[in-house]
Amino acid sequence: MLPRTTSARLVRRLVPLFALLSGLAPALEAQASARAIPSPASMLGWEPGADRKLPTWKQVTDYWTALDKASPRVTVRTLGKTTLGRPFLVAFISDSATLANLPKYERIQQELLDPRKRRTARERLIAEGKNVILITSSIHSTEVGGFLTPFNLGDRLARAATPEARMILANTIVMLVPSQNPDGVDIVGDWYRSSLDKPHEGAGPPVLYHWYSGHDNNRDWYAFALNETRYVVDSLYGRWTPQIVNDVHQQGANAGRIFIPPYMDPVEPNIDPVLTASTNALGMAMSWRIMNDGLTGVATNAAYDQWSPARQYSLNHHGARILTETASARLASSIDLPFAQLGSGRGYDAKVASWNFPAVWPGGRWGIGDIVKYQTAASWALLVEAARDRAAWLESYARLGERALDPAHPWTTTEVPAQYVISKSQPDPAALQRLIWTLQHGQVEVLESEDGTSYVVPTRQPFGSYAKALLEAQAYPNLAEYPGGPPKRPYDVTAHTLPLLFGVKVTVEKAAVTRVGALAKAVAEPTYRVPGLSDGTRRIALYASWNASMDEGWTRWVLDRNQVKFTTVHDRDLRAGGLRDRFDAIILPDQSAAQLRRGLGAPYPDSLRGGIGDAGAAALKAFVNAGGTVLAFNEASLYAIETFGLPVHNALEGVKATEFYAPGSIFSVDVDRAHPLTQGFSAPTPGIWFEDSPAFEITDATRATAVLRYPAGGNHLLSGWLLGNKLLDGKAAMVDARVGQGHVVLYGFRPQYRSQTNATWPLIWSALRR
Ligand SMILES: [Zn+2]
Repeated sequence: MLPRTTSARLVRRLVPLFALLSGLAPALEAQASARAIPSPASMLGWEPGADRKLPTWKQVTDYWTALDKASPRVTVRTLGKTTLGRPFLVAFISDSATLANLPKYERIQQELLDPRKRRTARERLIAEGKNVILITSSIHSTEVGGFLTPFNLGDRLARAATPEARMILANTIVMLVPSQNPDGVDIVGDWYRSSLDKPHEGAGPPVLYHWYSGHDNNRDWYAFALNETRYVVDSLYGRWTPQIVNDVHQQGANAGRIFIPPYMDPVEPNIDPVLTASTNALGMAMSWRIMNDGLTGVATNAAYDQWSPARQYSLNHHGARILTETASARLASSIDLPFAQLGSGRGYDAKVASWNFPAVWPGGRWGIGDIVKYQTAASWALLVEAARDRAAWLESYARLGERALDPAHPWTTTEVPAQYVISKSQPDPAALQRLIWTLQHGQVEVLESEDGTSYVVPTRQPFGSYAKALLEAQAYPNLAEYPGGPPKRPYDVTAHTLPLLFGVKVTVEKAAVTRVGALAKAVAEPTYRVPGLSDGTRRIALYASWNASMDEGWTRWVLDRNQVKFTTVHDRDLRAGGLRDRFDAIILPDQSAAQLRRGLGAPYPDSLRGGIGDAGAAALKAFVNAGGTVLAFNEASLYAIETFGLPVHNALEGVKATEFYAPGSIFSVDVDRAHPLTQGFSAPTPGIWFEDSPAFEITDATRATAVLRYPAGGNHLLSGWLLGNKLLDGKAAMVDARVGQGHVVLYGFRPQYRSQTNATWPLIWSALRR
């Protein structure tokens, strides 16, 4: 027998000859190259989906490196280093001839996207172009099926052994990101392997699986705070602007087996309606296809909405977005789910067939193999359906670009101003710089005014609708579960107004009155420093619960970016006492009082259980009595009220959601400018991020004072959604309480919210500095 490589070369040489005689060439070529393609099992030592098996990131990168070497249909690139230093990969997958000409297809894509750049006839661009499809897997690292599904997709496409695979390759450029959070593959994988055969096998890790954000890492698609978001935006979205994005996730275990769009209401009003329609059409076709292949428990129009641009970059950048959410097990360990234990998803009952849940899953064992099977089937269905309609996708994509520039076609029912004007003279120059950097990073064209004093953002530009969504105040619709019923919970939060978050004044011009000059140069990201803190003389502690809080991670991001040194303290550090000898200030990030008090319980090991506990609470009291400052963010303020016996009451305690509701909005406040804690709080419109927050009544004014207050009789909503406006009237939003020689500062809001609230950072600095 000839060595494999020789025989493959021989077949390749003979292929053109055969091709003249028969139509067998593609099949033979596929056979020849398939011999050299390493199977996932040969690289891993087990099949993707094997029970209780997860890969390391090294195994993932080794596989893609080997596949790149073996297959002319796969090109792997490293886009940079992750937050913790691992390589961040993308695999480009297409026909070898397409891969050899990627710059040509990138140019076609850009000409289709932006009519101003067209040098080639539209018909030719559509005839020659490919569907560019971005697949991002396992951004959420406890959704472990996403570690493995890319192996299956890579293998099937690299082998090109079926007519479907060949049709996909001929019509598509796949950009496959095997994990959007490589650090989490090892954080969760190492934890899982160490938990095998122990009581906590299958439980989530006691730390955030993204260093700064944990699960919030998919809420970063307009702020770009994380390296991992930036790589994909800079190198893939920015250069390729894909027609379709497939974001591979997992949901809870007990309802449907998989969710595929259409999404639920509401839709963000600035998203082009054609993108909503194409997302719906593709999702329904995928659902049809995988059900035809025998899969059950497929839910559409359920649970997930289409509102926050934090989660959906593509829908704001001319790309359909297919989120799939497959039911979870316990990491890679199986569970038994009898039919009787199945529950309801939002929008369907998993025990009852309905129009958007046509085939009920009968219940039974569910594990990593099932998850990988569903995820692979759904992604494959997407690729097949999109490839079959390639020309229609490109036609639709070209029209999105044309409509964005055409004033005769408003994309939304809300009023579209001509432009937004941002004066270069702002109270916080770093916040202005961040705003311009953020817009430019999201592919928004920012112009200079002719006199050079302002930036101008016209709405008639390729991503003008996205700019509008971020620069205007949100009016979230008043949705109820049923007429007169409780408010319909949004999937995430309801506001994303950058000028309010950052503290920058922006004016709206309905007609273009400002004389506009050239495109502004790319603005650099600001570097932050805090006078009196970045020099490192204050001794600051940040509490990190083993019941990991995303707000703790984001607080670290804000401290690191502002070059403020701090020490992370865990339960045992607090319980050990002697805190005043070590620290001047201790931050309790946003976390419920019960979680802070009790922390983790069963089935976690004893070393992780118990929370701050009685000993930790006593030590915190001693710390404040001896002159220390405790900063309690949002829900942690309720823990502080109890622990320190503060003369403060939460006016919203026990209030029903039908009477008061605000799940992530920006509220207006009155500022006590004479109070030392408001020094440096310079936002032109003082607003705070309110999310499941308390509102304070002070019961003893000699021991506590209001720093920020909701004005009596005012409209408190600046952006988002608020039911029960009047319940906030006259309540305090931030309180400074005196305890012994020290202070406890209560923030009835999130002073740093997912890295984004530049405007209220100074309210943290002032308390840390005191
Ligand atoms: Zn997820």
